Amino acid sequence: MASPVLDSAATPAAAAPPPARRTRLSELPEVRWAALSALAFLCALPLDLAGAPAWAWGPLYAVCYTAGGWEPGLAGLRALRERSLDVDLLMVVAALGAAAIGQYLDGGLLIVIFACSGALEALATRRTADSVRGLLDLAPEKAVRLRGSTEEAVDVAALRVGDTVLVRPGERLPADGTVLHGASDVDQATITGESLPASKAPGDEVFAGTLNGTGALRVRVDKDAGESVIARIVALVEEASATKAPTQLFIEKIEQRYSVGVVVATLALFTVPLLFGADLTTTLLRAMTFMIVASPCAVVLATMPPLLSAIATAGRHGVLVKSAVVMERLGAVDRVALDKTGTLTEGAPRLVEVRGEESALALAAAAERSSEHPLARAIVAAARERGLRIPAASDFSSVPGEGVRATVQGRDVRVRRADGSHADTAVEVVVDGAPVAVLVLADRLRDGAPEAVAALTRLTGTAPTLLTGDNAGAAARIAAPAGLTDIRSGLLPQDKVAAVREWERAGAKVLVVGDGVNDAPALAAAHTGVAMGRAGSDLALETADAVVVRDELSTVPAVMALSRRARRLVVQNLVIAGTCIGALVVWDLAGHLPLPLGVAGHEGSTVLVGLNGLRLLRDAAWRKAMAGE
Ligand code: ADP
Ligand code: MG
Repeated sequence: MASPVLDSAATPAAAAPPPARRTRLSELPEVRWAALSALAFLCALPLDLAGAPAWAWGPLYAVCYTAGGWEPGLAGLRALRERSLDVDLLMVVAALGAAAIGQYLDGGLLIVIFACSGALEALATRRTADSVRGLLDLAPEKAVRLRGSTEEAVDVAALRVGDTVLVRPGERLPADGTVLHGASDVDQATITGESLPASKAPGDEVFAGTLNGTGALRVRVDKDAGESVIARIVALVEEASATKAPTQLFIEKIEQRYSVGVVVATLALFTVPLLFGADLTTTLLRAMTFMIVASPCAVVLATMPPLLSAIATAGRHGVLVKSAVVMERLGAVDRVALDKTGTLTEGAPRLVEVRGEESALALAAAAERSSEHPLARAIVAAARERGLRIPAASDFSSVPGEGVRATVQGRDVRVRRADGSHADTAVEVVVDGAPVAVLVLADRLRDGAPEAVAALTRLTGTAPTLLTGDNAGAAARIAAPAGLTDIRSGLLPQDKVAAVREWERAGAKVLVVGDGVNDAPALAAAHTGVAMGRAGSDLALETADAVVVRDELSTVPAVMALSRRARRLVVQNLVIAGTCIGALVVWDLAGHLPLPLGVAGHEGSTVLVGLNGLRLLRDAAWRKAMAGE
């Protein structure tokens, strides 16, 4: 791939956003073959109609048939060898059948229209893939690494965690990292879909592929190239495209039998009238027309384009949906459970009070140092802030939803949930079996949480439930401003699972949104599990069906709305496809449907259905989903 980005990293003067990589028509082989086929047809047509001798137009038709038919024909034969019937093959056979009875023009027209609609389909599929792939192309290939005061241009792949890179104005960020020095506005639309640039100062997180504004930034690399948010988006969406939604699997199962049925019916339509002395040409044409219009091409194309488009659009706006199965399921959810710490709250609690021995804080921090829990991070940070020396710890172990234990300076130290109700989160420090202090921590409600709760309530018709391992007082303090009244507190991981199972037994389809190791079992048990990406533990990210990359809670109802829209489009497509097939078949059987008209109707409906699904690729689709439409 030619890369103007490569130069822009080394010479900022040439910095320009990379061109959006959209597949052009002429790049696709399908398009070239279709064009050749059409050209040959258009040359043959006037000669044929003007009654020129066969040697003049014959070879042209031959080119037309070969260019348009060899690919689907070969693919169809290959499928046949694996004992499956490909609808493409039916088209080619129909065209050859028409030619066999001297209807070269009709057969040629069929081949041309078929090849053109195949090319359009290929283009549509490529555009979906491009819109995802395009994200990756936004990440530059070269970066400027700082070694002391020297600058060196290196491949992005060679960057290591801990390196410092210089990002000049107008350049794209080469890696996920933290700003060390400088201030700038960064356009993060590629990841968040947010069109307003975000201002960045030392300490702020930045992301590969986003566009630096007018300031120069020194950035510490925090993630390897393959681990960046944008690389993960691409990998997940590509994985998603390889899976098939249940509706699609069902359709493919019946497609086989249906296609065989079409062939049998065609043979009957051909032989039976002949036995009764019907005219060969008329009979054959009608049978061929039937075979074409009855083929389920449009039905096959009804399901995946809407779902894949929805996945690509959600991905561009910060929600990674891991498969088409999940995209189809999200819209069916009718009950939502939210975790508190890290999901409804920012997951960045602060220590507000030490009740008991101050020295317990250092011991607690020692034990918590190996924990991934947000509370652990807060305790360690508080101990550092107070300038305490944190001793070394060994024998670390943790119980999700409960707390941690470790051996510190020969003593058994446990930090665990404190019994009873407090207005804030409270954990108890127990040394050698004796409680010595209670640490009180407070977390902030996420921005936009009340709006997200309201949107989820509107979508499902039921207010979400808060599921938390924390105490009732702390839960209530966060739930009230978020607009939640249904609260279950003091839950262990298995209790969260039990709650989910209880609802599902009652027939609900439950969506669980969580972030922690303690949420992973519930995420797995739920109909659909969504993890908060930034604060989320690796286990939660892996277990969940979808990941909210930027931790914006409002994108959860949006992706549900998008899924519903995709499901509606699938139904709409199936109706369009079914109606067109039905109408054309009846027309052919009852009256006389000219072959070219049948072909146009069949291919037209197929293309219409294909393009209909791509509507969800547009940003307008996401804006509507965010508005809850
Ligand atoms: P939530 O369900 O709200 O995300 P968790 O299940 O992760 O909360 O935690 C529930 C409770 O267990 C916490 O409020 C805390 O009291 C205790 N706890 C969990 N992990 C730790 C830890 N690493 N250190 C101290 N206490 C912990
Ligand atoms: Mg949590």
